[in-house]
Amino acid sequence: MVSNKSAEFPLYYAKDIETIDRKELEALQLDRLKWQVKRCYEFSDFYRERFDKIGLEPRDIKSLDDILKIPPVTKQELRDEQIAHPPFGRYVVAPQKDWRELHPSTGTTGVPVNTVWTERDVENITQWTARTLWSFGVRPGDIVQNGFSYGLWVAGMSSHYAAKAIGCFVLPIGASMAERQVDYLVNPGSTVLLSTPSFALYIAERLNQRGIDPSDIPLRVGSFGGEAGAQVAPTRKKIEFRLGINAYDYYGLAEIGPTCASECEEKSGIHWAEDHLLVEIIHPDTHKRCDPGDVGVLVLTHLTKEATPMLRYWTNDLARLNTDRCVCGRTHARSEGGILGRADDMIIYKGANFYPAQVEKVIRSFDELDDEFRIRIATDEKTGIDVITVLAEYKTKEVDNEQFKSKIRKALKDDLEVTPGVELVEPGTLERTMFKAKRVLDERAKAE
Ligand SMILES: [Zn+2]
Repeated sequence: MVSNKSAEFPLYYAKDIETIDRKELEALQLDRLKWQVKRCYEFSDFYRERFDKIGLEPRDIKSLDDILKIPPVTKQELRDEQIAHPPFGRYVVAPQKDWRELHPSTGTTGVPVNTVWTERDVENITQWTARTLWSFGVRPGDIVQNGFSYGLWVAGMSSHYAAKAIGCFVLPIGASMAERQVDYLVNPGSTVLLSTPSFALYIAERLNQRGIDPSDIPLRVGSFGGEAGAQVAPTRKKIEFRLGINAYDYYGLAEIGPTCASECEEKSGIHWAEDHLLVEIIHPDTHKRCDPGDVGVLVLTHLTKEATPMLRYWTNDLARLNTDRCVCGRTHARSEGGILGRADDMIIYKGANFYPAQVEKVIRSFDELDDEFRIRIATDEKTGIDVITVLAEYKTKEVDNEQFKSKIRKALKDDLEVTPGVELVEPGTLERTMFKAKRVLDERAKAE
């Protein structure tokens, strides 16, 4: 078996760009932004109409902050555009002769939005994905079991190209055949697993059922994305323990690209590929830029994408941004805690805003509680005031007392800046779902 001890290889996949001085990085971003805005204005009726409507011209973009003048693009606007101008809308900027691959969104929230990659786009995506694989320890000689779905979904193909570019042996198994996944973990003995967090747990279960001890297989690291999980401490712990590996989180979306942000070995947030993307954190109501470290909506702009560039794509995902150099030495900004939730999930209560992800973090910090929780919003019949209660499951009945509940209330107040009520229920009371569990129970609507 080929050795892949990290010491034999350099620390970075592309040192110059990954550790670039931030001033230099921003200069590069501005050059690329101007190029992108100009070509969008020249070659896309979709973008030109949006600019003309507010009297904006490419020459008005003189600094990175000037990007705030450009109206954000929502997924719904892309859908409407595709319907009005089939098949791909007028935001495809590269000529058809240059189109190479089609990668639509999954369509879980409506009609899929089509995105197109040119040859240059494929190259760029391959390079930045290779960088992310390298940043969490993948090296030449690794055997990469690619459990991401192949085909239309962005993650399968891009990881395949990237692992090959690094010099890995790729097993293109895709997101199926759990038994075969286990077979390959044993023989040839994959060292890297890529999949969604829930599929990783499913594979781990099969491994366990077959009586295979994780310490007896060579699997070393894994990257898990496509849904929340790897950033949520208890889920990460389960994957790491059950597969005997280090597990890393990544983020990608079809409209922007796969693995556009990924954790390094420090696990201190997902690093953005900032030479290819301009990352903004925007307040969902005021549309102004959030203060550094504050949570807001992630808005992404393609700096190098040729075929279907997005200028200020409103992801509706929530994150924060830290531009301090990471312990790993990389200067590209990080979103600590990864994606924190969806903007639609924001709860406004007594003048404060908070998100279910914040409640999740607090609840899961108590060993006495199970992972599941709900946030109930109801109107008090007597006072007519809205009341928020956090429901959580105790593991043993003894902790269901006022003293412990007040400890939880205090921890919630420290994080949310408001104090919800706390109700504890028996283990197993709250329903478990694999995907996108609905954790906010808004009972105000029922009362009306
Ligand atoms: Zn780092």
